[in-house]
Amino acid sequence: MKDLNGWINEGQIMMAQREKKIKRAKSWKFDTVATHGLYDLQQALSSHSGSIMEPVYMSPAQAYSDCNEMEAALSYQIPTWCYSRIANPSTYFLEETIALLETYGSDIIASGLATSSGMSAIKTATDPFLVKDDKLPPPNIVSCAKVYGGTFQQFWIRRYQEQGIEVRWICDPGNLDEWLSKIDNGTRFVYGEFPSNPSLTIFDIESVAELAHSFSIPLIVDSTCATPAITRPLLFGADIVVHSASKAISSSGTSIAGLIVARKNIISKIGPDEMKADFASWAKLWPFRDNGPSIHPMAAIMTLNDMRSLRMMVDKMSQSALQIAEYLHNHPKIENVSYPGLPSFPQKKLADKYMHLVDSDRSAFGYMMLAEIKEQNPGESINTRNFYDGLDMIWRATDLGRVKTIATLNSISTHQQQGEEGRSLAGINPNAIRISVGIEHPDDIIADLEKGFSNI
Ligand SMILES: *Cc1c(COP(=O)(O)O)cnc(C)c1O
Repeated sequence: MKDLNGWINEGQIMMAQREKKIKRAKSWKFDTVATHGLYDLQQALSSHSGSIMEPVYMSPAQAYSDCNEMEAALSYQIPTWCYSRIANPSTYFLEETIALLETYGSDIIASGLATSSGMSAIKTATDPFLVKDDKLPPPNIVSCAKVYGGTFQQFWIRRYQEQGIEVRWICDPGNLDEWLSKIDNGTRFVYGEFPSNPSLTIFDIESVAELAHSFSIPLIVDSTCATPAITRPLLFGADIVVHSASKAISSSGTSIAGLIVARKNIISKIGPDEMKADFASWAKLWPFRDNGPSIHPMAAIMTLNDMRSLRMMVDKMSQSALQIAEYLHNHPKIENVSYPGLPSFPQKKLADKYMHLVDSDRSAFGYMMLAEIKEQNPGESINTRNFYDGLDMIWRATDLGRVKTIATLNSISTHQQQGEEGRSLAGINPNAIRISVGIEHPDDIIADLEKGFSNI
């Protein structure tokens, strides 16, 4: 029988093995990392009955062989999963893989944390910076105004209206002076989407990270619409990346899921040293344990299954999206198309700097665009609604990053609840339609868009 120290020694051996596997995965190409992560033959044979795919552990809890192992595990002195609200062996494989993908092409070491949704990832990633600290001025958040509707509401309703935390919106994220004018000693973190959903606004991650760090605060980036196949913000100085893994990361659409990836030693003027040293692992073991936003292990494995083909999916979607953006841009019934791949994109230089298909020399600008339909009078949406209702194959839904092409009329859906003022901050006009390009043949997508135009 092992005593407590015996178990702790065993735990150290397991941790050394994990380090070795991370090192091995760091030498692989992106698709190989996405396919294998840390799960290998040796682990399959020793612990998982030889299963070549990562098994789904539905069990809520883990058993221990004796009180010494339990004591070592529950004091977090050995790798353990204890209880599926905190950790789970299936979820572990997803978390390790996304941490590797977000740091791909660098020697940055990061940790991952999977959550029940993208919104809970954002909440879990931001909560720890908003805690009370009597030595600091009242907290404020500095964030791009052009963010996902749910994020806007989380910040504006939950953080500001309910909790009184000031939210300072950045209206022109390309303008570094605006960031500088809004950050002060009360700012706890800086937040932006890259690119923003649905307005496709981007910002200079490197400069904004540098600015945030000069105030000793972290930059948090929602990279849902780029995915690590295109942009990896940690490589440009961001501290934490959040994802709605409900989107392109799981493009075949089986689950709602969120992911957080934090590099080691984030910059923050608040929080314990353990938090700064390894934010995602700390968040998982402490606040996450108490708040309970964990993902279901089945959803974790389905997300992981889709994530293996992320690069190929994003490549195909991005190529088709560019073709469709060009078609729409030249269409007489279109007012404007925002897509980072178009020469007319106002932040084209930044897009070219940050958006490349990983492991290729090609640029890739993602699957999402915002198209504005020509109206007789500004502020109207008559033609827009006719176009939208004329679509046949393309789905009318509030979804994106899917293998199926989806169109969203944002002013009446994703951005309905934030009102006129909120929509104008977010740059959402009544004639704006977000198109998320899937993996169908682009000719068929264009033929369906024609049906929409012929209904105007
Ligand atoms: C969808 C989305 C979210 C929210 O994710 P859920 O998984 O739906 O909770 C957050 N950010 C962006 C950019 C999104 O597109």
